[in-house]
Amino acid sequence: MGAPTMYDDSNIFARILRGEIPCKKVHEDEHTLAFDDIAPRAPVHTLVIPKGKYVSATDFADKASDAEIGAFMRAVRKVAALKGVDASGYRLIANTGVDGGQEVPHFHVHVLGGRSVGPMTSAK
Ligand code: AMP
Repeated sequence: MGAPTMYDDSNIFARILRGEIPCKKVHEDEHTLAFDDIAPRAPVHTLVIPKGKYVSATDFADKASDAEIGAFMRAVRKVAALKGVDASGYRLIANTGVDGGQEVPHFHVHVLGGRSVGPMTSAK
């Protein structure tokens, strides 16, 4: 069984998109919103989310339009520039489903940088 694909409108990122909860906005365009993570794991820790209702990376790849997918990747790159890490480097993480450790069921990519972010994952 894969990750759930039924979108839950009460998830925290849906509430941010509806303006019910504040966020520290970094970038916004027609298809995408980026804001700082509330519990940063690195000096730069920004989340990039599509405005559309996609549960996960799988759901996004399956259902989003080419325009949404293109805008998303361009927004990630823009965030790297706005945060000043495009030259020093950064890590993109898209936790997906149960084994990926995804907590919020609205597709998002973490942009982490501002220092060396360490090994890719635990080897266990
Ligand atoms: P994930 O485990 O990939 O689903 O990550 C969810 C991320 O959302 C975590 O890094 C949280 O710190 C972050 N987060 C949860 N609530 C908020 C919020 N209200 N504003 C910003 N980031 C949040």
